[in-house]
Amino acid sequence: MANVAAVRKKLVTVCRECHRVVEGEACGICGSSNLSTDWTGYLVIIDPERSEVAKKMNIKLPGRYALKVR
Ligand SMILES: [Zn+2]
Repeated sequence: MANVAAVRKKLVTVCRECHRVVEGEACGICGSSNLSTDWTGYLVIIDPERSEVAKKMNIKLPGRYALKVR
């Protein structure tokens, strides 16, 4: 969990629609520009098919996500 603090320091933005970590002005997955820097819980999904968390959050693609977005 040491990763969380390091990532937050850089003011990483996440998509409010699909919770994916976004690099740039808009989400690369859903195209939304509804982004937030106020989030908690850094989540790396490698295999969505086998991840219970991914299923719960309706994540279909591997990548980096935020658990909760405000
Ligand atoms: Zn998105």
